[in-house]
Amino acid sequence: MKVVVIGGGAVGSAVALFLKRLGGTAVQVQVVEPDPALTRSSSALSAGSIRQQFSNPVNVRMSAFGHQVVSQAAQWLAVDGAPVEVGFVPGAYLFCAGAAGADVLQRNHAVQREAGADVALLSPAELASSFPWLNSADLALASLGGTGEGWLDGQAFARALAAKARSLGARWRRDRVLGLQRRGARLAAARLAGGDTLDADVFVNAAGPAAAAVGALAGLEVPVRARRRTVFVMRCPAALPPTPLVVDPSGVWFRSEGAGFIGGWSPGAGDADPDDLPLDQPDLAQFDERVWPALAHRVPAFEALRVQRAWAGYYEVHPLDHNALIGPHPDCANFWLCNGFSGHGLQHAPAAGRGLAERLLTGAWQTLDLSAFSPQRVLDGRPFVEQAVI
Ligand SMILES: Cc1cc2nc3c(=O)[nH]c(=O)nc-3n(C[C@H](O)[C@H](O)[C@H](O)COP(=O)(O)OP(=O)(O)OC[C@H]3O[C@@H](n4cnc5c(N)ncnc54)[C@H](O)[C@@H]3O)c2cc1C
Repeated sequence: MKVVVIGGGAVGSAVALFLKRLGGTAVQVQVVEPDPALTRSSSALSAGSIRQQFSNPVNVRMSAFGHQVVSQAAQWLAVDGAPVEVGFVPGAYLFCAGAAGADVLQRNHAVQREAGADVALLSPAELASSFPWLNSADLALASLGGTGEGWLDGQAFARALAAKARSLGARWRRDRVLGLQRRGARLAAARLAGGDTLDADVFVNAAGPAAAAVGALAGLEVPVRARRRTVFVMRCPAALPPTPLVVDPSGVWFRSEGAGFIGGWSPGAGDADPDDLPLDQPDLAQFDERVWPALAHRVPAFEALRVQRAWAGYYEVHPLDHNALIGPHPDCANFWLCNGFSGHGLQHAPAAGRGLAERLLTGAWQTLDLSAFSPQRVLDGRPFVEQAVI
């Protein structure tokens, strides 16, 4: 089988890695990626965090596998025994809820425990004693991760996945797909900017926030949107112990990063969230308008917080339900999607790559049933909603 993977970020690299790991010489894999350093990819621009705290069991299990690969990177990703450094720091998420969000947090907690996650619910009194620097006066409940969470260097991780895939025989083409030629109901070839044409049995769309643009090359709708997210790098003069990744009910989040902090804001259902805003213009006003007021309320010491710098990257949002699209396109059986992870694709890349490879090579989901992510659900109007979106 010949497979062309379009995009070599964390997702495309994981697809290539598992195709070669499972298929060996029976599968030829070519990954087309214009920027192998991945400087503008979402994988490099992400906050690089892994959590178990989702509202769907399959997302919890995908993260558990992501955590396994990251925390045992030497075992999964080493090439010829050379050390692999993905900068993994074990840590925890702390989801905070006011009275309005406590029910959802409790329901999610039951799902997570059922799926094997190490998580605990904390009352306001328990919060106050565990995290005395946190204002819990207006909180009703919180959920704290145990083992299985943390953060890493997304660019290093994606590049380690790519290096491992290459060591197993996947080929990288430093190029961009400019055209996808159809023959009847199928795709026949990819036309590259450099002039070459690649034919294949299967084409995998792993173009992250460019997934819709790549679909359009074949005249196919891929309902994924590029939505800019700004991350602020901050310092606080007051001494604080290392913090978990705290998710505030306002949608603002922060966590320790080295001697300082990073944080940002995710728009909620009623907030404007335009497509394709320029990445070279992080939304600096957002700090004063959204982030700082929420942080200073939640952590009184953050009144003195200072921004050092900011960067922006695209979430590749699947607006229907904030869950990924994994599987063949409903209108083109040999165009496979691995898109729309909506802000949790770095941690889900290994499980998505493994699942896609298993399904493609054996015709069935094996290790994890990922059928809930079928692109067909969009046409059928059956959303598979993820509640815990940051
Ligand atoms: C600010 C921010 C914070 C985030 N925080 C987290 C987090 O804490 N945890 C988490 O799990 N996820 C997080 N994410 C989401 C995560 O980064 C993405 O879900 C994940 O990186 C998607 O990987 P990808 O490989 O699909 O996309 P990308 O990494 O963007 O890779 C896609 C690649 O496709 C290539 N490409 C595009 N068009 C073409 C073409 N025509 N031909 C060939 N190649 C093409 C691009 O060059 C790019 O390298 C965050 C994202 C952002 C922006």
